[in-house]
Amino acid sequence: MAYTVTLIPGDGIGPEVASAAVRVLTATGLSFEWETEHAGAGTLGQSGTALPPSVLESVRRTKVALKGPTATPIGTGHRSVNVELRKQLDLYANLRPVATLPGVKSRYEGVDLIVVRENTEDLYSGLEHVVVPGVVESIKIITEKASTRIARYAFEHARLKGRKKISAVHKANIMKLSDGLFLDCCRAVAKGYPEITYEEVIVDNCCMQLVLDPTRFDILLLENLYGDIVSDLCAGFIGGLGMAPGANIGEREAMFEAVHGSAPDIAGKNMANPIALILTGAMMLDHLNEQKAATRVREAVNAVLREGKKLTRDLGGHAGTTEIAEAIAAHVENG
Ligand code: NAD
Repeated sequence: MAYTVTLIPGDGIGPEVASAAVRVLTATGLSFEWETEHAGAGTLGQSGTALPPSVLESVRRTKVALKGPTATPIGTGHRSVNVELRKQLDLYANLRPVATLPGVKSRYEGVDLIVVRENTEDLYSGLEHVVVPGVVESIKIITEKASTRIARYAFEHARLKGRKKISAVHKANIMKLSDGLFLDCCRAVAKGYPEITYEEVIVDNCCMQLVLDPTRFDILLLENLYGDIVSDLCAGFIGGLGMAPGANIGEREAMFEAVHGSAPDIAGKNMANPIALILTGAMMLDHLNEQKAATRVREAVNAVLREGKKLTRDLGGHAGTTEIAEAIAAHVENG
């Protein structure tokens, strides 16, 4: 049976890392039918929109998407395609595992944590307006429904993966109502999972604790904005954004995308590290219940990293995106 998957290459390094991930996923021997759909800054000129309706139609049909990063202009221009896709498809859970990989130089060892980020509300609701010239209001929305849903997802995920502790990250000392509601929901859900330790950490203290010793944490449960920022911080523990995979999960559809952005500084130069999106592809295989293939992909990545001969610049090497994809694909094929 062929899996039909929507492929959104995206902007910047997106097409390079997307074809690397497709190369490795194809090497598993599984059959994929890729519905390629274009979204992002690159489609604006042609379609007049960064998110053509055909993209959403395709994901609604296939239920699974593999997505490269899409660029969003800073302080002006179109709204984020990512935020729009996550909201339109109600992909409420952003799952970002952060684990030390073999052979990768980093300041930390033995990191193995999971970031669970609420994906649909908070300051990402896009509700901003000018009150009077010189005064702008940006509205943070936190609801009981979304907070309970993400907390339940985190605890269910912890149970599924045999994880022991969940740390809810907040700033309820300042945002007493919004972050206070988030914590109330987390506490209520935590009561149903007595085998999992539940703690609460203020976000600034959490960042300091993470930098001192990331192995102190197991699962981090965060609202949208804190989750976004803390994800990049955590990627730094395992060699950077080129190594950090991710998934956006909803009730019906799932969209798999790495933590990193379109990296315009290295786009089109065959310099991007494709491992983040390849590991994202392994998460997609898990989702498709193809655990054996997912394990082969992860083992192939580990083998190439352990050998240390084919590494991109971010990891101190000189290999290109395509070379690494070929090396990993060869391990998958022979593994
Ligand atoms: P970025 O993640 O694109 O880049 C940050 C730094 O990490 C850069 O130095 C870049 O070269 C490096 N980097 C990122 N991915 C890498 C990879 N795979 N291999 C090697 N190095 C890598 O973040 P940014 O510069 O803040 O954002 C650039 C654009 O990406 C913006 O338009 C932003 O809106 C967008 N963005 C999109 C997503 C997404 O689509 N999910 C996520 C974050 C940012």
